[in-house]
Amino acid sequence: MLDAITRLWTDLVGRIAADLVSPALAWLPLGHLAGDPHDIAAALLIALLQLVIIACIFRPLEAIAPAEKWTDRRFVGVDRNLTLLMIFGLNPLFAFLVLTPVAALLTGGGAAAETGSTGGLLGFIPGIDQHPYLAFGLYYVIFDLTYYWMHRAQHVIPWWWAMHSMHHSQRQVSCWNNDRSCLLDGVFQSFIIAGLGLVVGVDAAQFALLELLSELVQNFSHTNTRLGFGRILERLFVSPGFHRLHHMRIDPARPNLHNCNFGQVLAVWDNLFGTALYGESPRATGVADPTVDADNGLGVLAMQWAALKRFWGAVRSPDGWKLQEVAFDPQTFRPVPVGHADPQGLASPQSAPPRRT
Ligand SMILES: [Zn+2]
Ligand SMILES: [Zn+2]
Repeated sequence: MLDAITRLWTDLVGRIAADLVSPALAWLPLGHLAGDPHDIAAALLIALLQLVIIACIFRPLEAIAPAEKWTDRRFVGVDRNLTLLMIFGLNPLFAFLVLTPVAALLTGGGAAAETGSTGGLLGFIPGIDQHPYLAFGLYYVIFDLTYYWMHRAQHVIPWWWAMHSMHHSQRQVSCWNNDRSCLLDGVFQSFIIAGLGLVVGVDAAQFALLELLSELVQNFSHTNTRLGFGRILERLFVSPGFHRLHHMRIDPARPNLHNCNFGQVLAVWDNLFGTALYGESPRATGVADPTVDADNGLGVLAMQWAALKRFWGAVRSPDGWKLQEVAFDPQTFRPVPVGHADPQGLASPQSAPPRRT
């Protein structure tokens, strides 16, 4: 079945590339730049599928069984606009302008892809070419473990938190929250994930499938819904309730509670490395640091600019490189270790979080 899906995918991507993307590129001044129109076509197809699934499954779920009831959705719109900009504009452009040339450079012009054999580390497993399910499963597990540690680093390295905090500043976490992230952080993460793909050795068509799956899983895990997976499955997979706890606002009575549930697809890593949190009722989401909380109410560009200012303040400061939890000075944007700040003040931003049921 994986073969059939891969073939259908390659066929659809080929048609969109030939009938839509290539004529558009010939017409645009971008046409002469290095890159493969198939990458744009794949990214557009992913975007379309993602929107259909959000509209037909995730949004109805949020309406039927919300975790939080909001009187208005005033902070959600910016995430939706950012998602549309990312999936239909920046992701295809980034794949075309940056990832293809870099991948071609690293693989010596794509010679491995032409032979049709599995390259990278997976290529060392005898007979892996005959077991595409196993190869894909193995890659996914390695990818998910890498993501888990990368995500922990995003929280504990202050210059990385300066950017990742934009993802967390949202007080109304919904299925659109996934693409709310700093563009520079996105570029940084893409290189790590693409680099991992090259090292492990994954087929290009499967890489597209992985991208779609990972996007959809993350849209789902941000969905504002009470839906759980039951006691056993929740130990294995990340549910919306599990990830919602990762987005919780700091609890002054239990100030370390929010450092939990970093997994993307598998909850196994959190259970294995002692960061899993279960059994808490839904809590208000967002970041208590007023400098980060000020992202709420900003538009798409202003929010990106605010995250970059925090990054610039952190990356130039010695405190920006020490593994620790920080807030940001509202004037200089330099990191302030939370241990030195007034935790009560940080936990009580001026404006109240949205009402919960
Ligand atoms: Zn996070
Ligand atoms: Zn999240």
